[in-house]
Amino acid sequence: MENNLHLKNYTEILIDEAIEKLWSEMEDICKCQRCYYDTKAIALNHLPSKYTVTTKGEVYTKINNFRNQIQVDVMKEVMKAIMTVSEHCSHNPEEAVKY
Ligand SMILES: [Zn+2]
Repeated sequence: MENNLHLKNYTEILIDEAIEKLWSEMEDICKCQRCYYDTKAIALNHLPSKYTVTTKGEVYTKINNFRNQIQVDVMKEVMKAIMTVSEHCSHNPEEAVKY
């Protein structure tokens, strides 16, 4: 078995990018690890997964085509997920640690 192969969900990579981009533009929301995973889980559940086997260098060339197809949906779902998480924070305020 080739050990430089990876199983990647492109949707997950794009969701990570979208959360980081949107969070960097927002100030008054909790940005802890817990809220990051809550946001990511909601977005992943609302978007189609796109699993692909790649070698390491391939990921970022192949993902560009997929990004063009789905970027608008990803940004929309991630924004909705951020709003849901910030309205229904699932932890005590004192647990909030800056991500
Ligand atoms: Zn939080």
